[in-house]
Amino acid sequence: MRYGLVINTSQCIGCYDCFLTCQDEFCGNAYEGYSAAAPIEGHNWMRVLDVERGQYPLVKAHYTPKTCMHCEDAPCIAAAQDGAVYRRPDGIVVIDPVKAKGQKQLINSCPYRVIEWNETEQLAQKCNLCAHLLDKGEKEPRCVESCPTGAIVFGDLDNASSPIAQIVKSCKTETLKPELNLKENVLYIGLPKRFVAGTVVLKDKQECALDAQVELVDEKGTIKTTTNGFGDFEFEGLDANRPVTVKITVPGYKVESLNCTTFNDAHLGDIYLSPQA
Ligand code: SF4
Ligand code: SF4
Repeated sequence: MRYGLVINTSQCIGCYDCFLTCQDEFCGNAYEGYSAAAPIEGHNWMRVLDVERGQYPLVKAHYTPKTCMHCEDAPCIAAAQDGAVYRRPDGIVVIDPVKAKGQKQLINSCPYRVIEWNETEQLAQKCNLCAHLLDKGEKEPRCVESCPTGAIVFGDLDNASSPIAQIVKSCKTETLKPELNLKENVLYIGLPKRFVAGTVVLKDKQECALDAQVELVDEKGTIKTTTNGFGDFEFEGLDANRPVTVKITVPGYKVESLNCTTFNDAHLGDIYLSPQA
């Protein structure tokens, strides 16, 4: 058994219900053998990272819920003394609220920075997937239960017939920091990549170009799209830091090519096409 989460960030609307229900469950509430009470303010065992992508005239908001990743190769376990952090047989990584007293070194052991310090309790604390509820027979942690869009799915990643395992099988998932390679059991779908967009205008008519053919070429190949009624095009999900060429073709007009590198999300502005001579 290996409990985990799949978080589909493209379904997250940034309502913060997951954050609030986590606070409701743990702030001021102790669960013997599982967790001491979290402080009323200051702890975020489930947080929602919000980023603004792009620039005028195309700006997007993106939300990424983030909690403990319940890593199989967990540095927090290695950093703990006296077995104060351990991985349960069901895969949940737990900080023992008694043994971990005074072990402030745990805070810096987590490369995801999800362990908080409780000054009153002198205790490191973090998400334990509501283990106290699961052990009483609840089906899922409270953040999962509260999410209005179903963006967070909980379950046994080792059970091939479970919904979460089916999602992992059928969708491309990734971890929040693949470079860490800690065998994280919180997986993501739809993490933001880069976009390149623009607006095509027919110079002689001063009109938006509808159905212009737009190609994006990089070392991986070519992606094609067409402009909409406002002359807009967009390529989403591109790799970061890649040089790309955008080529625009409209019959009767000169082909336009623009080069850029996907350091950031980019709107190329109004691109004017001149008629062929
Ligand atoms: S995310 Fe951090 S706190 Fe959670 S298991 Fe991994 S190393 Fe430990
Ligand atoms: S409850 Fe669901 S939709 Fe709301 S912020 Fe959390 S993950 Fe996103």
